Formats: sequence, structure tokens, C-alpha cells
Amino acid sequence: MTKIRTRYAPSPTGKMHVGNLRSALYEFLIAKHEGGDFMLRIEDTDQERFVEGATEIIYRTMAKTGLIHDEGPDKDGGYGPYVQSERMKTGIYMKYAKQLIESGEAYYCFCDKERLASLKTEIVEGKEIMIYDKHCLHLSKEEIEANLAAGKPFVIRQNNPQEGTTSFQDELYGEITVQNSELDDMILIKSDGYPTYNFANVVDDHTMNITHVVRGNEYLSSSPKYKRLYDAFGWQVPVYVHLPLITDENHKKLSKRSGHSSFEDLIDQGFITEAIVNYIALLGWSPEDNCEIFTLDELIEKFDYHRISKSPAVFDIVKLRWMNGEYLKAMDFDKFYEMAKPYLEKELPATMDLRKIAAMVKTRIEVFPDIAAQVDFFAKLPEYDVEMYSHKKMKTDAASSLAVLKDLLPILEAQEDYSNDALYQTLVAYVAEKEYKNGYVMWPVRTAVSGKQMTPAGATEIMEVLGKEESLNRIRKGIALLEQANA
Ligand code: GLU
Repeated sequence: MTKIRTRYAPSPTGKMHVGNLRSALYEFLIAKHEGGDFMLRIEDTDQERFVEGATEIIYRTMAKTGLIHDEGPDKDGGYGPYVQSERMKTGIYMKYAKQLIESGEAYYCFCDKERLASLKTEIVEGKEIMIYDKHCLHLSKEEIEANLAAGKPFVIRQNNPQEGTTSFQDELYGEITVQNSELDDMILIKSDGYPTYNFANVVDDHTMNITHVVRGNEYLSSSPKYKRLYDAFGWQVPVYVHLPLITDENHKKLSKRSGHSSFEDLIDQGFITEAIVNYIALLGWSPEDNCEIFTLDELIEKFDYHRISKSPAVFDIVKLRWMNGEYLKAMDFDKFYEMAKPYLEKELPATMDLRKIAAMVKTRIEVFPDIAAQVDFFAKLPEYDVEMYSHKKMKTDAASSLAVLKDLLPILEAQEDYSNDALYQTLVAYVAEKEYKNGYVMWPVRTAVSGKQMTPAGATEIMEVLGKEESLNRIRKGIALLEQANA
């Protein structure tokens, strides 16, 4: 059996989009599931779209997500160069293009901009496409040679027949057959000497021994033309897996506007790498047992590309948030604390016991930025409505709360030990003495010290963090508020 070889072939045009990361992940998983090799190839032939620094983003993201390539520009595996602009310098694309010219499958085209602008256009998939009329296919050998000798700019076009059909196989979509009359004579080599993606992907995937190609289904419509190139060379076509579109919640193509279209966006929003990778694995694929949480190693073990689905994958940020929360709950506490610290430090004075607060919020947040709303009251007691003291189930109201807090104030003033345990014992002793229910006392105390309906911890844990002075200030403030309301 031939060794599985897959490749991730990004164009360095900016951020790492969720769709790109999904292709990279699936390519990685297909290779690793079978003990194959995963390769990185940089497709930088479109010089106009090249963005400075984009290649570094690709390296960084792949290293961070654990999609470690076996071969690439920085790891020679004998199939280099791995950057298309460098491959071009070896003359490889021109060599193969000339071979196609020899066999009549391609031809030189010297048409200038003006002539091309005068040609018919058609709307294909919402884009205006110029249909080349094969004018230069009919040039004589002498005319071609004279043009070349005169240094006239040219492109090399694929020569597609106008009769018959072309078929190719896709793992998800099955056999696809198109009329050849629909295939334009696409450019293989541009006037700047660079190959187009359309040509380079075929030459490279073949010469680099790639067995499986995973990419977005926007390439599906060009694939018959690639198939014709493979056939013209007599090469074996790799297994094609064209992935369904990723949409937002409104079933529109995931775009920058959604705010979470790239890996960097998601990291900036406080998601963690492992959860992002896990979630992206499920954008179009699911395992047999419908399990949802996987480490990368578990994904390698379970990933079967035959289970990829054709239906559009909806990027559900609510689900990703949930998944991220699950990862945070399961995370080792020290690691969680290190990651949560910058968010805690933004909200709270350094004198507070941030580790204790981190422990309180660990199971209550989905992403790190949720921390702010959980802990804001520690730094400053918010303005709150006296209504908050009334709780049906706890059987409390403004009057009962005032009585409890007034009773407790001297006890808490006398208390030296403000540890959670000691405070708890004091309050429970008071509850027992008065024959109240716990909540009847805890509710007003917690309300007074936090000013919030929901807090990440109970009254005494909060007081431990606040310390004696601040706790007492807040209780006195509560008393004042309740006195006003009861007056
Ligand atoms: N360079 C192409 C892109 O970034 C790769 C498509 C492919 O994987 O063949 O979209």
C-alpha cells in the first residue's frame, strides 16, 4: 500500500481562517490516522494577494494547534522546495506547461488586455468570467515563434475540448460529470512567469506524491479542469475531499463580519486552542458514537474521513462557548490560574487573593473574558436595589434582612478570624441560636457584601477575600440602605 501523504497548502494572504484551519486539521488527521506524512506547502504564486507576515501566522498557528508537519519549508523531506515561488525558480512549472503545449493540451496566448476586454463574459457563481475564444490556439508555428522572439508577453492556457464530458471522483460528492463546453481555457502560466494556483496545485500534488487533497468546495467547479491536466500527463488523481461551506448562524458564509472567522479572532475572544481545534473537527465531521470532546490524539485515533458530511457546517458560537467551558472545568488548576490571571488582574487589586477568586470562577465561566462580570463586585460594591434582599424561597424581605444584619454587625465586628471556615461557623452558630434557616441569614449577608444576585461563591467565602474592614463597610452600607427603605 502506498504511504498516505497529505498536504496543507495555504496561501499567505492574512489570518488563519476557520475554514483553512479545518482543512489543515482534516489533512493532518487523515495522514496521522494512517501513520502517513503531513506536509506544509506555501502557495505564494499570487503575488498581489501576498500579505507580509502571513507565513509566520501559518507557522505559529500550526505549532500552537499541534498540527505538526513532517515536511515543509523548514523541514526538508526530499520533496522540496516547499514554497511555490521557490519551486518556480527551478523551472518545474514551465517544464510541464511546455510538455502540454507539445501534446496539444495547452497553448501560448498573446492576446493583449484590450482584446481580452472585448470578449464575451458570463456570470459563473455570481462572478463575471471572461470566456476566452481560443483565438491564439489557431496561430501558426511561425507566428508563435516570431512573437516569442520579439519578447511579446504571453500566458499559457489549457486547451479544453468543446465536445464531450469530463468526470472525476470526489469522496463526498461522488462522481461529478461536466460538459467540456463549460470548461474555459484557464491560464496555467501567467504573464509574470508564475503558475496559477490552478496549474501549480496539480503539478505540486503529483510531484510531491500527495495521496489525499482536502480543500473547500469552492474548488469543486475547477476540479474537472485539474482532472484533464492529470489525464494529459498520465498521472494518478489524488483522493479529493471537498469540504462543505462553513456558515454563520444565519446560514451565510462565515465572514470577517461575524467576528469569529479566524483562529486569531477566537483566541482574542478568550477561547483556548484545544477547544477551538476540538470544535473545528466537528464542523462537518462526527464520530460513530457522537462523542464530542476529544484531545488531538483521540481525534487521530477516531478520525475517518468517510464520515465527513456534505451538508453545510454551521459555526455555532454558543456551542463553542459551551465546549470551551468544559475544557476550562477540566483544566489543571495551576494552568487555569496562569491563564486567568491577566483577566483577574485587569479587574482586581493585586492585594486580593486572586488564586482563591480563580478557584471560585473556574467552573462558572465559558471563556476568560466572562471573568470580568463574575468578579467585578470584589473591586467595588455595585449600586444595588434594596429589592434584592427579598427572596421568596429564603423567606427574606427588607425588614427581616435589616434585623439579621443589625444583629450580626456587632458579632462580626468582634470576630478576629476572617477565614471562610471561621466566618461560616459564626454564622451557622447564629442561625442555630435563633432557630432560623441557613438561607434566611446567608442571603442578606451575601447580598450586602456583593450587591449581586448571583455570585461565584457564598457569603463567607466572599468575606474572606474582602477582608474584615471591607466586609464590615459593606454590611453597614446594607443596613443604611435597608433603614432608608424601611423608614
Ligand atoms: N492555496 C489554496 C488556498 O489557500 C489551497 C487550496 C488547496 O488546498 O488546494 O485556498
